[in-house]
Amino acid sequence: MKNIVFVAAPAAGKGTQSDLLVKKYGYAHISTGDLLRNEVASGSEFGAELKKIMESGSLVSDEIVTELLRKRLECDDVNNGFILDGYPRNVAQAETLDTLLESLGKKVDVCISLDMDMDTALKRALGRISCPQCGAGYNKFFDAMKPKTEGICDNCGSTLISRSDDNEETFKTRFETYIKSTEPLLDYYKDKGILDVISCNGTPEETFNEIESVIK
Ligand code: AMP
Repeated sequence: MKNIVFVAAPAAGKGTQSDLLVKKYGYAHISTGDLLRNEVASGSEFGAELKKIMESGSLVSDEIVTELLRKRLECDDVNNGFILDGYPRNVAQAETLDTLLESLGKKVDVCISLDMDMDTALKRALGRISCPQCGAGYNKFFDAMKPKTEGICDNCGSTLISRSDDNEETFKTRFETYIKSTEPLLDYYKDKGILDVISCNGTPEETFNEIESVIK
């Protein structure tokens, strides 16, 4: 299976599409946002520092995130193909990633950009809810993504929660950070000939069908 990098604006659907790919094909899903949120949930002082940065909408330092990623890439499950969701976030991270993967005898096979306009991304962010128990994601503003019972996880019945950085003010900073730091990555992967841009203003299933045609 291919090693995939997702590049997308906040709330464009990287997590949702990753979950669908994991379910159908068994990819290893590496989300640096999740790795950081695990640190925050541990309740450590370091986690409290990370929380402040993440809630401001800025990026955590390259060194910290790269170290978390390096450890994760040592796990055996990445050998059968992985999805990187949220890393790289800038060109320096993309270069570090290439070096890191080369030392492990691996490479990025395809970069999938999920293209979404800012207003839709904002609506997605403000409606995003997820299950703290099983990780399933939903959206209260989009019919195709609503849970069957309002506020309750379809899979395990837990109460759904919102992310603390999914508010309008933080979203705008995160979107600006995306345009300034992350969007230049599209040229980086285009120059390597491995960029595919997919419009994701439709339903998650429509986007997933397009992604499948790219990875096959
Ligand atoms: P995400 O779950 O990918 O939306 O990430 C949530 C937050 O975690 C971001 O707004 C950043 O503060 C931080 N973060 C996640 N991945 C990275 C990364 N590769 N580099 C720097 N900060 C990151």
